Amino acid sequence: MSDQKILLQIDTDAQTSVFDSVVAIDAGVDHLLRHNRVDAGGVRDLVYGAMFTRGPADLKSTAIFVGGSDVASGEAVFKAVQKCFFGPIRVSSMIDSNGSNTTAAAAVLLAAKHIELRGATAVILAATGPVGSRVVRLLAGKQAKVRAASRTLVKAQAVCDDVSSLVDAANVTAHQVDSTESLTKVLHGADLVICAGAAGIQLLPVTNREATSTLQVAIDLNAVPPLGIEGIQVHDRAVDYGGVACYGAVGVGGLKMKIHKAAIRQLFESNDQLLDAEEILAIGAALD
Ligand code: NAP
Repeated sequence: MSDQKILLQIDTDAQTSVFDSVVAIDAGVDHLLRHNRVDAGGVRDLVYGAMFTRGPADLKSTAIFVGGSDVASGEAVFKAVQKCFFGPIRVSSMIDSNGSNTTAAAAVLLAAKHIELRGATAVILAATGPVGSRVVRLLAGKQAKVRAASRTLVKAQAVCDDVSSLVDAANVTAHQVDSTESLTKVLHGADLVICAGAAGIQLLPVTNREATSTLQVAIDLNAVPPLGIEGIQVHDRAVDYGGVACYGAVGVGGLKMKIHKAAIRQLFESNDQLLDAEEILAIGAALD
């Protein structure tokens, strides 16, 4: 039966992500074709297999998901996938390497429940990882004034350069944060802070959070103790601490999962969709 939903799961890691497979099945995929260790050079025959097997009317029942822990490799694969398509002979495709797009979209949408993002000053701690860099990109697209922080200035600047090349009139600045003083400085006047640091790394002590009198929203994406923002609990969802709406990683994770499933479902609505950060943000926005 050619109306069975088939998802070609292309993963850049040694092991194809079980997490992504389970979400796909929960989102209604009938058959998963799971491929690991795929790089941009090895994509063509996989994609041709998905493109050339079903008639044009049934192509929307086949889709591609690009995942894996390395976002740069995933992006190269995603580009290579698109190069295989021509005219109407294509299948809808999505990239969510390391959960970066779905997690970043959830964080940005939750922040937007509390503040107008346009013109807001947003600090992204550990902005250089897969999730943090996507958060920077999505907030820049919403015309926020984004401060991308890293222990290493050159890494923060690379994120800003990348985002500026993708987002028109992006207002993004790079900040080295490697001391209490530099943390205090980057937080000065911030409306929003999103902590996208590695698992088990605390980046924002409670004293700095409480001293940032302008802060309205604080979101921590690290679920592994010690948590990224001291004093916020992992399950917190819009919990008010001293006038700041606070979210922990599990508090964000619920919306992330809804967005992930909705994006997979949307892949099967037509055969011409390309879902990257901005499209996935729009899918999340439509869920409300
Ligand atoms: P990552 O790549 O592991 O790390 C992000 C950044 O953390 C790094 O680029 C680095 O920034 C900083 N970092 C790493 N080690 C550090 C250390 N020892 N001390 C201080 N900073 C350090 O993280 P990711 O994959 O982007 O994910 C970000 C967070 O989101 C993680 O905690 C992850 O578990 C979480 N996550 C949550 C969800 C959810 O649904 N809630 C989903 C996916 C991921 P610099 O080198 O630039 O300082």
